[in-house]
Amino acid sequence: MALIAIAQNRRMSDYVESVRRAGGEPVEVAAGGELPEQIVARFDGIMLTGGGDVDPTLYGETPHETFQSAETDRDAFEIALTRAAIAANVPFLAICRGMQLLNVAMGGTLIQDIPSQVPGALDHSVLEPRAHVAHEVWVSKDSRLSTLLAEHMEDGETCHVNSRHHQSVAKVAPGFEVTATSPDGVIEAMEKPGGAFCMGVQWHPENFWRTGEFRSLFEGFVQAASARTR
Ligand code: MN
Repeated sequence: MALIAIAQNRRMSDYVESVRRAGGEPVEVAAGGELPEQIVARFDGIMLTGGGDVDPTLYGETPHETFQSAETDRDAFEIALTRAAIAANVPFLAICRGMQLLNVAMGGTLIQDIPSQVPGALDHSVLEPRAHVAHEVWVSKDSRLSTLLAEHMEDGETCHVNSRHHQSVAKVAPGFEVTATSPDGVIEAMEKPGGAFCMGVQWHPENFWRTGEFRSLFEGFVQAASARTR
């Protein structure tokens, strides 16, 4: 069974359940435990989770007035884990803050506060219920994401998602492609074509495990992890 490392956050249960239902065996990892290189060597797949803002100084910007968290240890651990995983071609799935961190770790930047910095933006902070559909996204054809969500999309490209973020990807990291946007232009998914499974999604597919809308996404990730060659 594919062993999946899940970066620890404050609310793990939906991530854990989503991986289990996709056939993977989840294990929490965090700063202060196994080193990133050890995790990359031992696990078949790595998943980053939601949480607070990535420190803007890590992508060369002054923090916006909304910046609060500064989880310095978590940022440093997850950046090292991301770079080690991608260098070793380990299947990688990054959710919400995880996608933002993936982009920063690989050389991209973030929009620090969508409401004040994206004119005409939709409401991307619909907190409850957690599986509430907040907006649609348009998924790029020819992407891995489009293949995985084929049965869940209307007209072959539109997907309805939840949304609990006030930041998003700005400049996309080199080697990555945008694979979904919301109608206001906010980047909602990205992937690295040409290698192992490596994908970020800005919404929270893990909150839908009870009804299964995004089970195919987790299954694609876990299957890639199962097939990892060493
Ligand atoms: Mn959104």
